[in-house]
Amino acid sequence: MNPPSGRTCHLAVIAMVDCIFCKIIEGKIPSTKIFEDDHSIAIFDINPIAKGHTLFISKKHYSDLLEVPPEKLASILTNLPRVVAAILKATGAEGFNIIQNNKRCAGQLIPHLHFHIIPRKTGDKVHFNWQPLPADKDEMTALASKVKQSLSL
Ligand code: 5GP
Ligand code: ZN
Repeated sequence: MNPPSGRTCHLAVIAMVDCIFCKIIEGKIPSTKIFEDDHSIAIFDINPIAKGHTLFISKKHYSDLLEVPPEKLASILTNLPRVVAAILKATGAEGFNIIQNNKRCAGQLIPHLHFHIIPRKTGDKVHFNWQPLPADKDEMTALASKVKQSLSL
């Protein structure tokens, strides 16, 4: 056995054993499930920030977006738009946000890949605390070349 991948695998198993979403997927913790296919489930969030706030969750345990093999992502997300459309119809919402947190610093509390679907209505009380500032052009140009360099590796 190759030690590094063996250790990675072991850590992944520990993460799954403790994972609330894995337990929900296995039916060990109850949830209000509104959708399921071979690759994903959708459940209502237990602490919604808007009516119909839904979690669209990959059935396989990936800790975050960067852990998913790119070729698997399409099948996980295939039915996301259909679920969104059904939620909008049921709630009468006019629009929606998709929020996907990765790592604790970005607000991810449950390290199992999921997408928040937040139904929105004009004048609703949902606020995201963004504080945009004008970009520094030189900094932006330097950063763009760094990212492009990294992408070409
Ligand atoms: P995160 O911060 O990881 O992006 O979001 C995790 C979300 O999962 C939170 O919005 C939280 O309310 C929700 N959540 C946590 N535990 C449970 C649970 O046991 N059941 C359901 N349905 N949602 C949960
Ligand atoms: Zn999990």
